[in-house]
This record gives sequence, C-alpha cells and structure tokens, in this order.
Amino acid sequence: MHRNPLTIAIDGPSGSGKSSVSKSVARELGLAYLDTGAMYRALAWWVLERGLDPQDHAVIAQAARDLPLEISTDPGEATVRVDGTDITTDIRTTRISSRVSAVASNLDVRAELASRQRALITQARTEHGGMVAEGRDITTVVAPDAEHRILLTASEEARLARRATELHGSAAAEALDATKDQIIRRDRDDAAVSAFFEPAKGVVGVDTSDLSFEQSVQAVLDVVRGKVSTPTSPLQRTLPTERDRET
Ligand code: C5P
Repeated sequence: MHRNPLTIAIDGPSGSGKSSVSKSVARELGLAYLDTGAMYRALAWWVLERGLDPQDHAVIAQAARDLPLEISTDPGEATVRVDGTDITTDIRTTRISSRVSAVASNLDVRAELASRQRALITQARTEHGGMVAEGRDITTVVAPDAEHRILLTASEEARLARRATELHGSAAAEALDATKDQIIRRDRDDAAVSAFFEPAKGVVGVDTSDLSFEQSVQAVLDVVRGKVSTPTSPLQRTLPTERDRET
C-alpha cells in the first residue's frame, strides 16, 4: 500500500526550535526535509564570495537565479554546496547570519527561491512520500496547500536562551547580550517581508516556550497525527506504519 504524499510546512522565528524539531519529525515519519533558511544563507555566502553589493537589487536577483546550489533533503545529512564547495558549516557563522536578511528582503530573490523550494517539495512528494519544509513563509507563500501547516512560536526569553546556549554554550547574561543581534534584530528585519509571529488563517500554532525538545517534536507529531485539530485538514490523514511503507 502506498501512502498519499504529505507536505508538512513549519514556520517560526529564530530560536523557536523549528530546524531541529522539523528534522526530527521528518526522520520520525520517513519524509524528506528542507531547510529553506539554508538556501537564503547559501545565497548570502555566494554574494559575499563574489564581492557583490547586497543592496544592488538587480545584481542580487540575478545571483539568485544563477546560484549553483545543491541542497540535500535527507534529514540525516542536511548538506549545502554551492558551485561544488561544501558550505554546510560556513553558512551558520555570524558573518552570514548578520547579512542574510539583506538578501532575503529582495522580492525577486524570494520569488526565485520559493520556486526552487516548490520544485523540491513536488519532487519529494513523488520520490519520498513527502517533505517537512521549514522557514518563515512556507505555511503562507511557498506551500499554503500543505496537508499540515504549523507555526512554532516561543517567548523572546526562551528563544534568546536557546540561541545563546547554541552559540556560546551558555545562557549567561553576556551570552544573551551577544545573541540579541542574532535574534531580535534579524527577526525584526525578516518580519518586514514575512509574517511569522502569528499563525495565518488555518495554521496551527504550537508554543514551545515551556516544552523540551522531545516535547516539541511530540507536539508537532500530535498535530500531524490528528491528535490536535488542524483547521486545514478536515480529513485527517492516517499516517502509515513502518509495515505499510515497506509494502
Ligand atoms: O532559518 P534561518 O535562521 O537559518 O534563516 C536564515 C534567514 O533566511 C532568515 O533570517 C531570513 O532572512 C531568511 N529566510 C527567509 N524565508 C525563509 C527562510 C529563511 O526569508 N523561508
């Protein structure tokens, strides 16, 4: 028996836990995984590499169309390569984080990357039974027709503490301060082009402020498995068991 293809769209601000939770949900359900933020980061890396002016709208839009990007959609090995160079680690540095919003605010860039994201979602639906795609505008712009649409939120305090621990190994006051630019300023800039603090109509909000990582994964799985009502999916899908998927 083959299951119906499934797209799970997950949006949220930095520090909401969306990347690690989405990856884990994809692994749990045997689906492909797409980190759309990594695509914007890859473009920011390419723009810096080529010494382009991030403010030059037409040049950056053209760079997005030309971007020789290979992004793995395997949740066990999410690698990113541009023009053959593995930049999986490089795109997580402050050098990129502090510049990515500038390229992401270019609407022609967004149109190009959204179109690549839709193509990857379509391919995953045919080849892997579906995908968990996460970002800022997946529930609203890229895949508004996804079977499940979830917005992961968390209080500013929780988001800062998580990102400080991730970046500095501690949520001490200095680490929190150093993280503020990474979180608050970037989210403010990003929110100018995508709304990802409030769930759009039909999107289920999951607040992870007081949830552990495992509880956050479980909360998303509960939405997908229909234990929490999803306004977008009146006909709840029954996810296959491992045995269904082997047959
Ligand atoms: O999710 P992550 O923090 O890696 O995203 C990096 C940046 O990519 C965000 O700050 C935002 O500028 C941009 N982004 C976006 N739309 C998405 C995903 C990410 O604009 N769907």
